[in-house]
Amino acid sequence: MGILIIFLACLVAMLLSVPAASHAGLATWFSIASASTAFVAMAVNQYLATRPTYVEPLFGGLDRIYRAHKWTGIVALGLILAHYVITPNFKGKLLTTGLNDLARLFGEIGFYGLMVLGGISVSKRLPRIAREFPYHLWRQLHRFIGVFFIAIAIHFNFIKRPFDGTAWLAIYLNVFAAIGIASYIQTQLRALLRRRRYRVVEVDRAGSATLITAEPVGRGIRAAPGQFAFIAAHRPGLREAHPFTIAGHDTGPDGVTRLTFVVKPLGDFTRRLRERIAPGDTLMVEGGYGRFSARRGGERQLWVAGGIGVTPFLAMARSMADLAGKKIHLVYCVRDAGEAIGLAHLDEARKHPQFSYTLHSSAIDGRVSPEVMKAGAGFDLDGADLWYCGPAAMRQAIVKGFRDSGVKLARVEFERFEFR
Ligand SMILES: Cc1cc2nc3c(=O)[nH]c(=O)nc-3n(C[C@H](O)[C@H](O)[C@H](O)COP(=O)(O)OP(=O)(O)OC[C@H]3O[C@@H](n4cnc5c(N)ncnc54)[C@H](O)[C@@H]3O)c2cc1C
Repeated sequence: MGILIIFLACLVAMLLSVPAASHAGLATWFSIASASTAFVAMAVNQYLATRPTYVEPLFGGLDRIYRAHKWTGIVALGLILAHYVITPNFKGKLLTTGLNDLARLFGEIGFYGLMVLGGISVSKRLPRIAREFPYHLWRQLHRFIGVFFIAIAIHFNFIKRPFDGTAWLAIYLNVFAAIGIASYIQTQLRALLRRRRYRVVEVDRAGSATLITAEPVGRGIRAAPGQFAFIAAHRPGLREAHPFTIAGHDTGPDGVTRLTFVVKPLGDFTRRLRERIAPGDTLMVEGGYGRFSARRGGERQLWVAGGIGVTPFLAMARSMADLAGKKIHLVYCVRDAGEAIGLAHLDEARKHPQFSYTLHSSAIDGRVSPEVMKAGAGFDLDGADLWYCGPAAMRQAIVKGFRDSGVKLARVEFERFEFR
């Protein structure tokens, strides 16, 4: 649904360019239509970067919003290139010359800036280059896309063009200019507006992961079990916010809700977090985000966790009372039993007759198969939901396994631990 709305917003720009620019010739119209559509796509792109929680249902979660953000960016880049290559011919329709020259300059600044930053973002995904461009550097540079968007808005308003400011196209684009600029400002101020201050109360450096528990200093975030938050700490090397699922929301007798994050040390940030974070540290938390909530699911649910992908299930298992009326079985896949996290919470959840779980160790039991999952669940998986969090390849293998064995799943919901 979200993608359809973006498509329609872009289509309207293209349609409005017909009365506004078609009299200037086909090439000029095409160039203006490309630029107008690109501009709307860029404004939407800025809006999606604000992490708008209220439109998550339209896209299916923040990870999908980020995918839409990426694709609107790529489409905008292609269209801007088309506008640049096919130079419009305005046949002498001029505004003041000085403003025109300035607008041309802003257009060039915007064009080259977007091409360089967009190029870096696209090349970052290429297998050989991915490692060479550090993520934090890319993030810092990526912020400037909003500045180039403003340059393009100035370019569009003051460049000579075959329609005036009262044309529907001009009005439409200016609405998107306002949306894009307001979104950019909001994204830059997000840290101030949405982050909540927490104090770390416990750090447990377990074998395969670091467990961090923190309590709010003042107002905490609002989050549901299964959602994630961005966290950053006031320590060198830990100031950049990273996304982690909230594996536990525990409200104590004092009424304070403490959050627990379970972090696998896989890269620079997560290793530094393990080494440096300590009780008493300030943690900045922004969330909750995401739509991975079994409350939305059917009556029979098979949950499958691969490794650290157990974190949303830990949170949901810990609030099993919210899932009354559902029958749930969790298959927790680990390489060996020593890697497993939070078994005490799963044992506690098992006291609810609606919930059961099995720990599947691939070192001993091999790959998890539909037969193993069927036997563990103890209820018919035909027509049941699959809720999955873990490596994508494992998810594909599991879905294929069910399909091949004739089990028709009602829905497959999954959380990606990456934004792509
Ligand atoms: C919705 C969601 C929930 C997650 N929940 C958990 C969890 O509960 N436990 C857990 O251990 N891991 C979780 N992750 C994964 C975790 O966020 C990454 O492992 C971590 O950010 C990698 O950082 P790094 O510097 O240690 O690794 P690096 O090797 O430096 O980065 C690896 C990749 O992680 C991504 N990444 C790096 N920095 C950021 C950032 N600031 N924001 C977004 N992505 C970034 C990039 O794609 C990068 O290429 C989750 C991820 C997402 C998207």
